[in-house]
Amino acid sequence: MTHILHRQIHASLPVATAGRGVELFDADGRSYIDASGGAAVSCLGHGHPDVIAALHRQADRLAYAHTGFFTSEPAEALADRLVAGAPEGISHVYFVSGGSEAVEASLKMARQYFVEKGESGRRNIVARRQSYHGNTLGALAAGGNEMRRTQFRPLLVETHHIDPCYAYRYRREGEGEREYGQRAAQALEDKLLELGPDTVMAFMAEPVVGATAGAVPAVPGYLKRVREICDRYGVLLILDEVMCGMGRTGTLHACEQDGVAPDLMTIAKGLGGGYQPIGAVLLSRQIFDTFANGSGMFQHGHTYIGHPMACAAALAVQEVIERDDLLANVRTMGALLRTRLDERLGQHAHVGDIRGRGLFIGLEMVADRTDKTPFDPKLKVHARIKKAAMERGLAVYPAGGTVDGVEGDHVLVAPPFIVNEHDVDQIVDRLAGAIDTATKDF
Ligand code: PMP
Repeated sequence: MTHILHRQIHASLPVATAGRGVELFDADGRSYIDASGGAAVSCLGHGHPDVIAALHRQADRLAYAHTGFFTSEPAEALADRLVAGAPEGISHVYFVSGGSEAVEASLKMARQYFVEKGESGRRNIVARRQSYHGNTLGALAAGGNEMRRTQFRPLLVETHHIDPCYAYRYRREGEGEREYGQRAAQALEDKLLELGPDTVMAFMAEPVVGATAGAVPAVPGYLKRVREICDRYGVLLILDEVMCGMGRTGTLHACEQDGVAPDLMTIAKGLGGGYQPIGAVLLSRQIFDTFANGSGMFQHGHTYIGHPMACAAALAVQEVIERDDLLANVRTMGALLRTRLDERLGQHAHVGDIRGRGLFIGLEMVADRTDKTPFDPKLKVHARIKKAAMERGLAVYPAGGTVDGVEGDHVLVAPPFIVNEHDVDQIVDRLAGAIDTATKDF
């Protein structure tokens, strides 16, 4: 009997014992293609020798030194690398241990920035429905996934949610993509005016929605308009790229494809590729200067920020991605994966939409393709797909439940950046089989 409290108490999970490349192995000797890298984490696949070597070297030299006393070589080198590759205006990096911590820190940076500027009336956060920003209280407040929030609501700081940019569900009949994007962004301006723009500190959004809605990219022009609105009212734009960032969509940052630079950006999963827990907030020169010329500190901190082992792993992961030009593979294999999924599942009676960018693809499951009716959440179609996929040796990320009135089941396919054509064919084969099995009774 396990003594681990699993999220699903009664789930009996296989014991993972090894990982090599795109494959995971369990204690019973079964193998699985890791087609979602957990939750878009394992971007380099498993057991990469260069990362293992970097971890050995770092463990040998220095495992830990508290950031209140010291910085470290891998932390400095990683910060240099991240700033060099960051969107325009980003000048500094704040390391944390994961995505939720990055989101918490970004919200506190936004608040402190305005306090130090003498605008302490700015306290409101605007974010979006059908989003996920993490499970700690600040991040949960910002997120719009009602299933995850409901029972904790009394503990959450008030956040104001607008509709996301989610063309499959919200674009009107006959409305062009750009037109829809402008309308979706207008909801932000309307909300700012309703709240009083000088009470709002930040707008937070995922450029490509991940865990809640299954790889939903913003339509062209949406984020540009959002940026203009934030600038107009002096509101900070926080882009949460914890899941969609660090190469997952085919460019280092997803927002590059939208031609937009944020004031604050959160990154995590693909940063360390699962070799160590690590996340970061990238912040603009303007925010850094305000702290530097004001209190001289960011009033925050955790024991493990900038952990040398975590930074060494992330540095090695990022160096391999660049050296092996893996983002080119993300683009090519992403396009192939999308084509194969369209061929195989595009007309499936229960696959309503296939979307995404790069190696970040979502499938939205529906009871009825013609009117997009979702499955009854009680059927737990996403969980059935996960089970059927695991039985076929495929790990894909399922999501489902009621999210602000839209009940949906989604499957996220986000394999490591090293996948080849054969892997892609196997993933599509096994996933199509799993979807057939999971939906055959409906
Ligand atoms: N933001 C986004 C966009 C995420 O997808 C996630 C994790 N799924 C988080 C934040 C939280 O990250 P973590 O689980 O590492 O705390």
